[in-house]
Amino acid sequence: MDRFTETEGKRAHDPLYSPRRAARATATGFPVGEHGEVFAGPLIIGAGPAGLAVAACLTMLKVPCPYVLLERHDCIASLWRHRTYRRLRLHLPKRYCELPHMPFPPSYPEYPTREQFLDYLEDYMRHFGIRPFFRQEVVSAEFDGEFWCVRTKEVVTAAIGGAGEEAVVSTATREYRSKWLVVATGENAEPAVPEIEGIDLFKGQVMHSCEYRSGEGYQDNKVLVVGCGNSGMEVSLDLSNYNVHTSMVVRDTVPLEIDLVLICVVHVLPREIMGLSTFRLSVWLLMCLSVQTVDRLLLLLTRLVLGDTARLGIPRPSIGPMELKKVSGKTPVLDVGTISKIKSGDIKVLPGIQSFQEHGVEFIDGRTEDFDVVILATGYKSNVPYWLKDNDFFSDKDGFPRKANEWKGKNGLYAAGFSRRGLLGVSIDATKIAYDIAQCCNDIGYEKHKSK
Ligand SMILES: Cc1cc2nc3c(=O)[nH]c(=O)nc-3n(C[C@H](O)[C@H](O)[C@H](O)COP(=O)(O)OP(=O)(O)OC[C@H]3O[C@@H](n4cnc5c(N)ncnc54)[C@H](O)[C@@H]3O)c2cc1C
Repeated sequence: MDRFTETEGKRAHDPLYSPRRAARATATGFPVGEHGEVFAGPLIIGAGPAGLAVAACLTMLKVPCPYVLLERHDCIASLWRHRTYRRLRLHLPKRYCELPHMPFPPSYPEYPTREQFLDYLEDYMRHFGIRPFFRQEVVSAEFDGEFWCVRTKEVVTAAIGGAGEEAVVSTATREYRSKWLVVATGENAEPAVPEIEGIDLFKGQVMHSCEYRSGEGYQDNKVLVVGCGNSGMEVSLDLSNYNVHTSMVVRDTVPLEIDLVLICVVHVLPREIMGLSTFRLSVWLLMCLSVQTVDRLLLLLTRLVLGDTARLGIPRPSIGPMELKKVSGKTPVLDVGTISKIKSGDIKVLPGIQSFQEHGVEFIDGRTEDFDVVILATGYKSNVPYWLKDNDFFSDKDGFPRKANEWKGKNGLYAAGFSRRGLLGVSIDATKIAYDIAQCCNDIGYEKHKSK
């Protein structure tokens, strides 16, 4: 094997491999520079749709300085691959979910399945020659006045036994430095788990919705789903389709000690109204009408399609769906069949939880009921505050940019995918960020920058 082929082969496993660096590698095989490697191109953190989209846009703009894409898992789009249920489909029509420069295949349905979306992302990665650097969990990042210094921890695990158990085989740290830091770790990086009184006493199974795959195997159980966002509604529907005895907590009020925005009542709208996507309809209406008028129309049409949801135990917030989205970022839930299961009595709606008991739950109205399984569909949170140090761009409270729709901070810091607008927002951010970095490269002159 000649040296070129050998180097290329090693790069397939380690995009950062270079014979020079390898010569300086530590005993673990990872080059840990005392002051960190300086990379000419941007560091992108997270290989979900947002990180991939930024990488593709940089490639399309022929940005001369190569980016480095760091991902904590051993695959792209780990949220979609490892933390979603099997029945999941994109909630919005495909044209609002495709990433820049590559449409979905024409054969895809209007609402692609989770598997189709994952296949699309794999094709996207291959098409743009994106080679993420896997198993690199960013544990800290700070600006030293000149560069962003990013430290990662690499955890290598191996399977032990046959039950999917894993053991840590080795850990290693690395340090990277770059002029640009693109945060693409997602709005849903970690599950948000509420503290509910007595939950430790409960003898049944408790899981977050990110661990739920399907209702298979739960047929003999009484299951309580906590939360009525998109996940809570769909998990309940799925369980019910498997003939599981399903209840859903809709109104979690005071006892939960987490951010109530995660679980408070939201607007439930039909996914489609008269065959037209509700999302598309809202976009059109908002082009010519005020938010309040659009809300009035949407609620009128929703009432015709779904009926009065308050009578089913799902009251509506006092402000309309678009206005709520505008002021709180809270996206309406798009119903794909749960409401009709509630109407038929297949899914029971229950009020907020007061406390857990050994075999069940006491609700705020004083009722108690026994359950075998509790699924916390209580949402997700950003993990940026855990690792991004001393910055005033991201809020310490929720890990989102302090100003809505902000994608650019100071000193080459960017946020991709934090605008609470799903995959559409991801594409918009990625395009702007790549243009900005390309412009910056032109301004400073890449050759000059490279020689730094
Ligand atoms: C159940 C569910 C269904 C959804 N359905 C839709 C839908 O239909 N339409 C829609 O538009 N949106 C939907 N969303 C929202 C969805 O999260 C986003 O649209 C999309 O996944 C955002 O992509 P992202 O790259 O910003 O974040 P993610 O997909 O979350 O990707 C972030 C990546 O960063 C990695 N990462 C995180 N922290 C670190 C770290 N410290 N170091 C290194 N890597 C890290 C993660 O492992 C992950 O791979 C859904 C979300 C959920 C939970």
